[in-house]
Amino acid sequence: MSEPIDSFAALQLPPALLSALTDVGYETPSPIQAACIPHLLAGSDLLGEAQTGTGKTAAFALPVLARLDLALKMPQAMVLTPTRELAIQVAEAFQKYAHHMPGFHVLPLYGGQSMVVQLRALSRGAHVIVGTPGRIMDHLERKSLQLDRLQTLVLDEADEMLRMGFIDDVQWILEHTPAERQTALFSATMPEPIRRIAQRYQRDPQHVKIRSATTTVATTRQRYWQVKGADKLEALTRILEVEEDFEAAIIFVRTKIATVELAEKLEARGYEAAALNGDMTQGLREQVVERLKSGGLDIVVATDVAARGIDVPRISHVVNYDVPYDTEAYVHRIGRTGRAGRVGSAILFVAPREMRMLKAIEYATRQKIEPITLPTRSEVADRRVAQFKQQVLDVLADENLDFFFPVVRGMEEDEGEDGQKYSARQIAAALAFLATRERPLQPEGKDIPEPAPRRESRDEPRPERSFRDNREDSRSERPPRESREEFRSERPPRREEAPARRSFSEGNLVRYRIEVGKKDGVMPKEIVGAIANEGGIEGRYIGQIHLFDEYTTVELPAGMPAETLSILKRTRVRQKPLNIRLADAGDEPGQRAPRRSFSGEGKPPFPGKDRPPFRSDERPPFRSEGKPSFPSKDRSFPGSDRPFSKKPRTK
Ligand code: AMP
Repeated sequence: MSEPIDSFAALQLPPALLSALTDVGYETPSPIQAACIPHLLAGSDLLGEAQTGTGKTAAFALPVLARLDLALKMPQAMVLTPTRELAIQVAEAFQKYAHHMPGFHVLPLYGGQSMVVQLRALSRGAHVIVGTPGRIMDHLERKSLQLDRLQTLVLDEADEMLRMGFIDDVQWILEHTPAERQTALFSATMPEPIRRIAQRYQRDPQHVKIRSATTTVATTRQRYWQVKGADKLEALTRILEVEEDFEAAIIFVRTKIATVELAEKLEARGYEAAALNGDMTQGLREQVVERLKSGGLDIVVATDVAARGIDVPRISHVVNYDVPYDTEAYVHRIGRTGRAGRVGSAILFVAPREMRMLKAIEYATRQKIEPITLPTRSEVADRRVAQFKQQVLDVLADENLDFFFPVVRGMEEDEGEDGQKYSARQIAAALAFLATRERPLQPEGKDIPEPAPRRESRDEPRPERSFRDNREDSRSERPPRESREEFRSERPPRREEAPARRSFSEGNLVRYRIEVGKKDGVMPKEIVGAIANEGGIEGRYIGQIHLFDEYTTVELPAGMPAETLSILKRTRVRQKPLNIRLADAGDEPGQRAPRRSFSGEGKPPFPGKDRPPFRSDERPPFRSEGKPSFPSKDRSFPGSDRPFSKKPRTK
């Protein structure tokens, strides 16, 4: 058997890429990278079964970059993605890995962005194109995109493209690219239509599947918190602060840089924290582990490689701050706690788009992973007050306070400058204030909005759920309305939660007519896919869809901007332009597509003159020109919490 590949250099990637990987702090190739990169570098076709979060983007981006001829400014590789968000993310990944490749150009092409902008960018030339199927087809038809020199075509999240009704478009594109191209197909699952595509369009593909470990992790309690990237640090400190049995933790992140950054942030918040990564010498690493053992450190922030084999019984918690690449890595990680016969706690931070990994872990560990609700500020305050009281009681029980009684009595008898006398209770309150000035009992800042609860996975369909809800499982950061309501009814409302969300009435929806119908064999999911991707209207804002023989009516939020309307007019489904227009009285509903009520809770339908007076931080369903907005990565919270320590810290 060959040696496992444990460095990027061993994969024979060019120096420019190795430097970029050092810059971003990747320590070792993830399993999918180690398995795919050699095949893709060799020019083979590839069929990769792997989920989001496994590192599959780099698995195809690195070999594509390694094989590029930078002097030739024509598309040599193209990646098809189901959504514009993924297209942008993949394009950004290419940019990141090509940091030391001057002159490299990647161009994302997706619906909803101005054609003029895209045509101009195309005319300037690009080495790699990343796009959604509809818009790529559009450019191929206009001949604004020339693929004569295309070497590699990547289909990313192929099952998602199938689910969204893009598979015919994908086939059309496959037919319109050079037959001798290399084709890499990545999919989390391999439903039959995807297998057929692989059989038909790939030549002797190499199969790569990321295995799942099957282990029982009996002594560890597993929980997860569904996260939006920006809130992670705040969530981490709150969760650790209210954990009853917290003693010490290992926090797993993906990169060496992240170990240092997070350890510094935790230190700044008063934790005894340190980084542990592969850049540190063996001696330094041993020191960190020794300090963790002896109680000199409470938190170690580590990468998978650096934490291998750590055996410290004090570790009560393992936090998967970044999801692991695969279930095996997860099992290794959580094996760091629950040692020496103790019960450990594993907490997984999982983004909405990584929920499939959660399912895979549950399957592999044969255990349910329970959701955690983030502690509110008042819960944190309650916890701090309880600890403070305990500290006072401990001092009363253990310390000799003889010297202090007359001091307090004297203060009671003294008159203040204003001639006022103070009671022992008032004096005690002032002392409590002084004692907690460094770390106020009442945490500052504001509450983090409650994250969306988990929705059931697509492998466990709910009878009443439509295809669009499923699609939102992996794309949307918010759940469909019904599951939000279920979630609310599961627990009483909390004092500090945000006020009830607004909701739009059905009156905010307007019926449009599109010129594609049953005769064309269209399915509602294709219409939703096209409107969502090309028009930038999120699925949850799309109301009822009624199919007729010649046409279809679809309910969309009122007041659609002219630009969106114009894009949707030209958008094609089943090769036909939608020619969308307002439906008139004659376009009555006929056969009904699966019903789904429009829930625009908490977010305005679109930006523009008729916009209802909502908060400025809300995101519209119609995205305007250019990039959609993403949450910024490292938003820190105002007035974040102060240090927490189980025991009073002595400086
Ligand atoms: P993906 O599955 O491509 O969406 O990647 C998930 C995350 O893993 C991204 O944030 C990548 O930056 C990160 N990542 C990918 N490969 C590695 C690696 N070898 N080491 C550390 N992080 C990685």
